[in-house]
Amino acid sequence: MDFLLTPEQQRWRDLAREFTEKFIAPDVIRRDRLPTAAERIPWDWIREADKQGIRTLGVPKKFGGAGADILTLCLVGEELAVGDLGFAVIMDQCWKMANLFGDAMNAEQQQRFIPKFVADPDATTAIAITEAGAGSDHQGYYDSPDIDFQTTAVRDGDHYVLNGTKRYVSNGSMAKLYFVVARTDTQKNLRDGGAIFIVPSDTPGFRVGFFHEKSSQRLATNGTFHFENCRVPVSNRLGEEGMLGRLRSEYMWGSKAEAAATALGVGRAAYEYALAYAKKRKQGGKAIVELAPVAMMLGTMAMKLDAARLQIWKAAWLADRKQAEARPLGLLAKVNASETAFECCKLAGEVLGGASIMYDHPVEKYLRDASSFLHSDGTNQLCLLRASQAIANLENPALYGF
Ligand SMILES: Cc1cc2nc3c(=O)[nH]c(=O)nc-3n(C[C@H](O)[C@H](O)[C@H](O)COP(=O)(O)OP(=O)(O)OC[C@H]3O[C@@H](n4cnc5c(N)ncnc54)[C@H](O)[C@@H]3O)c2cc1C
Repeated sequence: MDFLLTPEQQRWRDLAREFTEKFIAPDVIRRDRLPTAAERIPWDWIREADKQGIRTLGVPKKFGGAGADILTLCLVGEELAVGDLGFAVIMDQCWKMANLFGDAMNAEQQQRFIPKFVADPDATTAIAITEAGAGSDHQGYYDSPDIDFQTTAVRDGDHYVLNGTKRYVSNGSMAKLYFVVARTDTQKNLRDGGAIFIVPSDTPGFRVGFFHEKSSQRLATNGTFHFENCRVPVSNRLGEEGMLGRLRSEYMWGSKAEAAATALGVGRAAYEYALAYAKKRKQGGKAIVELAPVAMMLGTMAMKLDAARLQIWKAAWLADRKQAEARPLGLLAKVNASETAFECCKLAGEVLGGASIMYDHPVEKYLRDASSFLHSDGTNQLCLLRASQAIANLENPALYGF
């Protein structure tokens, strides 16, 4: 096996590392403590990321993006998340939806939506699935129509009429382009009776709601928003009705590995901070890094981070080659990376001792941030459940989802 990154992958990783050092690191703590979600949105970083090609990293080259492979998205996601998980998530949501730009959109949709997204430095995308009554239900097996998933798309001539409310959505209420999951047939399960609709934020009937206030990923928004008799042309439907399962399984290859990489970045940030602290902090006349319990905690962190990264890279490598094993492995990599990151933040806290909860150190922020990916992108329980189902049913990709 060859673990060497290509020159292109290294170039993007280094660029993202520099972005973190130059723009994110110097100001992230101040921004994290701003009181409202709206004032925390890092528009200046989003624009800078646009200038450097990061915002459109996942967009195919023929549409003006960098056409990065999934492994590159993971490398860049990890580097940005070392600076700030919320910012990495803002970017990753754009990359995930860019996965759909290439093959899932038809040529007419590509012409209508992609140039506008690429040209607008403020534009981000969002995937709108979660509702008050349907959280894990949409992450699960989809076998029953009896779930409380209320957003519907009713056909009316050459339009669909969308009604419903989404919540918790990353980039929600700030994004310009939404990929909305709605039920077209409530008698069927969501996989077979649902579809994805492309909804620009200026569509009449789309109403921005509010940003959820939260303790984690504070620079990213999680929004609630509404569809009120929102008329969307039939030509905005991605694929056919009832293709939701296939769309998720055939075009969203890298989603979980990318999420895992951003979670990993927080664990790495905590580890690197704890290591530097342990070299400087003295007790009993010597640096605490020389004390066996502290050294062992740092060793444990290094071991787990490296193992999680290798799993992510393997999942990304397989996803780039559209191998079926990429699906369960991506789910498992997300579970492992998020648990690893959370544990590393806890261990970093133990290395710092009392300093861990003080606002003059970033470890309390890392711990808050790491907690989000235990649930985001599907709870770890559901991801494990789905990975097990996928392992047992490798012949039926429609069951996997993203
Ligand atoms: C930071 C963040 C970002 C997010 N971004 C997005 C986004 O961009 N788009 C979007 O649509 N959504 C997004 N979400 C929502 C996210 O997908 C849901 O929060 C998640 O799927 C869990 O749903 P829930 O919170 O309603 O928990 P619930 O579904 O209520 O789960 C509660 C508990 O029950 C367990 N449980 C539920 N059903 C089962 C089952 N069938 N089998 C076993 N255990 C079960 C869960 O594992 C969990 O332990 C985001 C959430 C967060 C926190």
